[in-house]
Amino acid sequence: MCRHLGYVGPPVGIGELILRGPHSLYSQSWAPVDMRAGGTINADGFGVAWWRRADVGTEGARDAVTRYRNHAPIWTDPAVAEVLGQLESRSVVAAVRSATVGMPVERCACAPFTDEHWAFSHNGVVPDWRTTLVAVVADLREVCTTATLFDSPAVLLQAEALTDSAALWVLLRGLLGEIDPAGPVTSPADALQLLVATVLRYQPSARLNLLLGNGIQLWGTTCWHALSVLVTDDFAVLSSEPYDADPRWQSVVDHQLVTATPGHCTITALELPATERVRS
Ligand code: GLN
Repeated sequence: MCRHLGYVGPPVGIGELILRGPHSLYSQSWAPVDMRAGGTINADGFGVAWWRRADVGTEGARDAVTRYRNHAPIWTDPAVAEVLGQLESRSVVAAVRSATVGMPVERCACAPFTDEHWAFSHNGVVPDWRTTLVAVVADLREVCTTATLFDSPAVLLQAEALTDSAALWVLLRGLLGEIDPAGPVTSPADALQLLVATVLRYQPSARLNLLLGNGIQLWGTTCWHALSVLVTDDFAVLSSEPYDADPRWQSVVDHQLVTATPGHCTITALELPATERVRS
């Protein structure tokens, strides 16, 4: 399974964050400790997204995200130290990839997937993703009756790559676009909850560890994989594995939804379909 990392807080060097700690995201690419039978190393590329303005304020959520990705192993790319080391941001979403068997190894399959001010990463797999996600689109059409986006499974053709993760991003992006206090999706947390529950309805063995950021807040789900949280008054980090021995790291149990900003973290149980509850 891939490893991912999200940060919000005072400006950090983007390269420094990726290299931070004895068990940095960088070293998790070749020496992860908790892959849970989802591959061995994360050598199929990497990606980093950050928000351009270093002085994100209350309008931070509107700041555009930008990114760098490479399909090669992260340790082969000097840009991590030489370029990303020169850049600072108040928020970062980064991932190293272990491609699921049968999925392409190419730059556009590497997380983070982005859109305007959102960045997204998926650690996991949706078995039989083409059939599963076609059924999910039909379900979302019933829930989001005003969203024309889900009228046809052809929406999945918008995926940047032929992977489960890229297709999940198309659906999540669509749900984020439906956020409305009066609608079925009132928040990013709602969008994640709805997507996870709907995918699990059709594919109970799907692994859906999702990470979402908008430059001022982070959201994560645990669904058959690890996630740890480090939240202080100054910063918030969500990471597949802790990058250091700081005793404030909190391990998140399975089937949770995490929302984190500096000084604030909520962890709530995902509401899952009945078949999923039986299995868990
Ligand atoms: N299935 C996704 C991919 O192939 C994620 C893989 C993973 O988490 N290891 O990109």
